[in-house]
Amino acid sequence: MRIGIDLDDTLCNTSETVQKYLKIYASTTNFSKLDIMNEKDLTKEFFNSCLEKIYNEVELKPYAKEVIQRLREKRHTFYAITARSNTFVPSIKNVEEITQKWLEKQNIKVEKIITASYGEKKAEVCQEYQIDIMVDDDPYNIKAMHAFKVNCILYDDKERFTSRENYATNWLEVEKIIERNS
Ligand SMILES: [Mg+2]
Repeated sequence: MRIGIDLDDTLCNTSETVQKYLKIYASTTNFSKLDIMNEKDLTKEFFNSCLEKIYNEVELKPYAKEVIQRLREKRHTFYAITARSNTFVPSIKNVEEITQKWLEKQNIKVEKIITASYGEKKAEVCQEYQIDIMVDDDPYNIKAMHAFKVNCILYDDKERFTSRENYATNWLEVEKIIERNS
């Protein structure tokens, strides 16, 4: 199967890393974390100064590497399909390269990294690349993919949503669903 994987908060712990840098950034300015996240210009400034560090430092979710390696041994292929883009902040103009280097460092091999994909665009990309199943933490993406008849797994390790079909709270559950569907 061709498996699509989202990066932020599915493959890696982006929110936690954002919080870490937000705390550091707030301590160097006169603004609180809440101010920074609620005020558009401050948010932009924060991400402009910290996002590359965040992308370089994020850590893999537990078992993600092992599960991907095992599934690759069974001839499944992986496509990283992400909303990360080169237009989000001025300081990042090479998001594919940053992401590729990070994936190499984690020893994760994907066929391709496809950026700037969110919602309907993500669903279109899944169709274009004939993705059999997409793993994503964002219910908005899942809804868009269902509308395009793309099979998906909702990754929800914070257990924010109620249990449903193709629902996983960790990568071992992702593996089980993929095995069941292949
Ligand atoms: Mg995500």
